[in-house]
Amino acid sequence: MSIDAARRPRKFAVALVHHPVVDRGGDVVTSAVTNIDVHDLARSSRTYGAEAFFITTPIEAQRQLVSAILGHWAHGSSGERIPSRREALAHASVVPSIDDAVASLGGRDGVEIWCTAAKPTGERCVLLPSYADARAKARSDDARTLLIVFGTSWGLAPALVDACDARLPPIYGAGGPGGYNHLSVRAACAITLDRVFGIA
Ligand code: SAM
Repeated sequence: MSIDAARRPRKFAVALVHHPVVDRGGDVVTSAVTNIDVHDLARSSRTYGAEAFFITTPIEAQRQLVSAILGHWAHGSSGERIPSRREALAHASVVPSIDDAVASLGGRDGVEIWCTAAKPTGERCVLLPSYADARAKARSDDARTLLIVFGTSWGLAPALVDACDARLPPIYGAGGPGGYNHLSVRAACAITLDRVFGIA
């Protein structure tokens, strides 16, 4: 068995960020939470063993909406009807910001934050050279919890990217670095988690 497969990955969590993200023009905006993103990323996070899945939005009304959805699946008829979905959503929570997610994980000193993007962005954030490197780092002796951050809209704002410890390489398709690679955040999350935490 390879070292990789023998070593358990570090604890990790997933965050879906709705602010600060950028719009088509590059302006920093707040995107709306979409139900399918919440369900899909909760299922992927649960599948790959995440400790937690955070939905972040600064908008109180949106947090109330997400809390209502999560509460319905935890205690309502839908959770009775689809227990596996209830199990996935049980790991989800909605918080105002990434800082709140980090606080939930024990504070910044105990968390290493990796972000994701379809194209290289941000000046200061270290780009991990490959998913093989990310996979190895996810199985290192580093005691910090990994927090893997996904964006919405047209992607994570550069300021947030630069506040992260590292950026995972963009996922490229058949066209390579110059080709089309604008994945939905749902697809990007599943591919990323499988590459880093999946068992082939
Ligand atoms: N061009 C934007 C981007 O990725 O920066 C598209 C945003 S996409 C609708 C929302 C999120 O999905 C991104 O913030 C990123 O987390 C993820 N994502 C989309 N395509 C990706 C790719 N090819 N590689 C890595 N992450 C990707």
